[in-house]
Parts: sequence; C-alpha cells; structure tokens
Amino acid sequence: MRTRYHDATLIVHEGGRPVVREHQSIVVEGTQIAAVGSAAELARLAVDETVDSSRYLIIPGLINTHHHLFQSLTRGLKAVQSAKLFDWLTGLYQRWQHVDFVADKMAAQISIAELLLGGCTTTSDHHYLFPVGSDVRLEAVLEAAESLGIRIHACRGSMTMGQSKGGLPPDRCAEDEKNVLADCTRVLDLYHDPQRGAMRRIDLAPCAPFNVSPELLRDTATMARERRVLMHTHAAETLDEEAYCLERFKCRPMEYLRQHHWVGPDVYLAHCVCLDDSEIELLARTKTAVAHCPSSNMRLGSGIPPVRKLLDAGVTVGIGVDGSSSNDGGSLVAEMRQAMLLQRVAHGATAMTPAQAFSAATMGGAAVLNREELGNIAVGNPADLAMFRTDDIALAGLIVQDPLGALVLGQPPRPERVMVNGRLVVKDGRLTMLDQERLVAEFNSLVRKHFSS
Ligand SMILES: [Zn+2]
Repeated sequence: MRTRYHDATLIVHEGGRPVVREHQSIVVEGTQIAAVGSAAELARLAVDETVDSSRYLIIPGLINTHHHLFQSLTRGLKAVQSAKLFDWLTGLYQRWQHVDFVADKMAAQISIAELLLGGCTTTSDHHYLFPVGSDVRLEAVLEAAESLGIRIHACRGSMTMGQSKGGLPPDRCAEDEKNVLADCTRVLDLYHDPQRGAMRRIDLAPCAPFNVSPELLRDTATMARERRVLMHTHAAETLDEEAYCLERFKCRPMEYLRQHHWVGPDVYLAHCVCLDDSEIELLARTKTAVAHCPSSNMRLGSGIPPVRKLLDAGVTVGIGVDGSSSNDGGSLVAEMRQAMLLQRVAHGATAMTPAQAFSAATMGGAAVLNREELGNIAVGNPADLAMFRTDDIALAGLIVQDPLGALVLGQPPRPERVMVNGRLVVKDGRLTMLDQERLVAEFNSLVRKHFSS
C-alpha cells in the first residue's frame, strides 16, 4: 500500500537543523517513508491513495525519553499536590504498593493514549514498580503499547532497598535482587528487538541511587553491556538526593554513578537538575545522554536543569514528560514549550529557541534512545508522523509567521492524524485502535475505587 500525503507543510531536519518546507509530499509505503519531496515532483509517482494534505503541518513523530506510565493512576492525588520529591514519593508508594496487572495495564493505556493524541510516536517507560506478591509484570506495559500502536522502549526498572534497608519505599515495593536480574534476563530474551525500526526494545533501569543497592547498579550495568541494551535511571534530580549521596556515599550523584559504570553512550539519565560544571563535563566526555523533564521539575519544585550549558557542552538532550503523577499531563508539544520557557526564566530570552526545543523533542530524543532511524522525515525511516491542522485556532496567525514557532510558542495543538510505523493510530483526532470513551470510563472507575485520596 502506497499513500501520498500531498502538498503539506513539513518540518524536516537538514544539516542538523529543523527547517520548514512548504508544498511538499510524503509517500508512505508499508511501514516506511518511501519518498519526500516537492509536491509537484512527487505527484508523478504511482500510489494507491492520495490524501490532500494542503491543510496539514506534518512533523516527525515526537519522542518521549522519560515516563512512568503507571503513574496516571495517581495523577493529581490531592495528598501530594504540593509535595517535593521525597515526600511526594513517600505519599505515593502507599498507593502504588496496591497496583496489580489490570490497573498497571489500564494506566499504561491511558498514558500512551494521551501521548499519541499529542503527537508522540515513541516513548520510553521507566517501570520500576513490581510489588512483592503482586501479579505486576512488564507485559502490562508491552500489551498496552501493542493495543494502541506506539513504539516503546520498555525499561525493566527496579527498587530493592525498602525502608528496612534505609531506602524510601515500603518493603513491599522492594524486590529481591536475584529476582530483578532473573526477570531482566527473561524480558530481554522474550521481547527485546535490536533490529532497525523495532517497535519494542527493552532497556534496563534501576529506579534511582537512593532505592537500589550499589551491587544491583553494577550488576545491571554488566548485564546491559553483555546484552548491548540501553541503561536508564534517575540522576541528580533534587538537592535532597545530592545530600543523601553525600552523606551515604561520600560523593555527589554523578560521581556515584560513574563509580558504578553508569556513564557512556548507552546510558540516558532522567532530570540532571543539580549538576556542577565537572559533572556536565563528565556527561559530555562520556557521551551520556539526558532526558530533560521541565514540567516535572517545576511541579515538584526540584529546580532548573542546566540545559543551556548541557547543549553548549555537546551533551545529547531529549525531552520527557515524566510520570503522570509529577506532570499530570502527557503532551510532548507542551513539554517543548516548557523546556524553552524554563531556560529563559534562568538565562534570558535567548537561552533556548523554538527550533532548539523542537530538535530536542525529535532528533534529540532519537539520539538519547540510540535510534538514528527516528526523529526525522527522511526516505527509509519508519513512517512516524504527526499531522496538525494548519487552521487550528491555536495556530491562527502563528502559522503565517513561522510554522515551527507556531508549534512551540503557542498553546499546544493536537494533531488530527498520527502515524506510527506506517499505521494510522490517531485519525480525526481520535484513537483508531481502542474505544476512547470506554477506556476513560473504566479507568475513572478504577481510580475512584482504589487510588483516590
Ligand atoms: Zn521519573
């Protein structure tokens, strides 16, 4: 099946920069982009279907580099609406320890649905909650992803230091280390797809330095490198974490991670708010990537990450919405705007341009996840696209000035169509694979019953 999206406005990356091209067409064949070029030229190609796209702004599908899909169960929970990270976590663990497979999967579907409806086509999910004695397994996330058609990096996360070992989570949320490693092996064997264009990859992801042991950090790194998969964790998120590391490990968080082999081009770290210059240099030198989550950092009052400095130092930076309990929303378009505005709060109006924010959410995210085939509209890439109506009220006037600026500067528009791997997963602004109203009704009933205050 060959489909031509005819005469659209595109944002593509050329020479490492996003540029706007008008009167362009894209031909999608199967799962891939078969041709991109001027509408006049591509009009000659034989196709099975032509979609008039003269009212579309088409961008590469956005890439979310950090999330905890299960957290939609407790988004907006009143008890922690104004808590900082450690208090927020402590309050939420009490609810999360009761998560089971059904709740986990439905929460993941809600979070993924929101991502897709916002134009995100690839997401990482840092799943570190496997309550002892529960039936929660990574399959909940994988099944949710498949049911909606998103491309996923499912991170097998872990927490092993419960309160009795000096950690933050209740002991019921802390797994045995041998079980963690055995399950990492199991899900890698069953589900990891190393092929170019893979819809499903498994990354290994201890939760944070303050809730797993140093041995597990090291063992996970060893396994990840033997299996050639990515490593992901939280790092330098708050001053409380910094104080915890200084007191317990006698060093700063990044030095602790370095000592346990958690730096390198196969590592991506969420947050990186509290970094000094030597830590920025360490990230740059080791090609360790950063998943920047501005809304979450603002929501929890964690601080302003030094993104301008990271970019200037050559560090790979992607954007993440973070879990739905610390953002309460999953729009990558909104997150691009927050990333840009937050740097301007710290460093003035030139600190980040709309183009830089757009790059971070597309090519930046692809680089963070080591997916060179994603993040751009180019021949041979998987067909991951988000198509916005140019007559959307949110873009009125803006679109005339600058289509790229329109996406980042204004209130976030929602795409009318979203395509992942050549399949339309959003059409007419609605999910194509699941009944949206039914999913939301069932989810609200679940939250009301088990996860509200
Ligand atoms: Zn997180």
